[in-house]
Amino acid sequence: MAYKITEYCVKCGSCFFICPVAAISEGQDTYVIDQEKCTQCGKCLTDNHCPAWAIVKE
Ligand code: SF4
Ligand code: SF4
Repeated sequence: MAYKITEYCVKCGSCFFICPVAAISEGQDTYVIDQEKCTQCGKCLTDNHCPAWAIVKE
């Protein structure tokens, strides 16, 4: 299982400020999660309330 940002991301940027280990950064078309840095804490999914429902755990 890994946290991922799907193509529904509208690049609002709010998840960037939520991640405690700076694993989220702005990519070309969407924000992206660096799987090497992600600790799977779940904050981006539970605390952020992504407006586009773009963050998934799969
Ligand atoms: S909160 Fe959602 S829409 Fe906003 S940048 Fe993050 S993934 Fe994209
Ligand atoms: S699960 Fe936690 S560490 Fe991983 S990207 Fe989301 S907020 Fe960051």
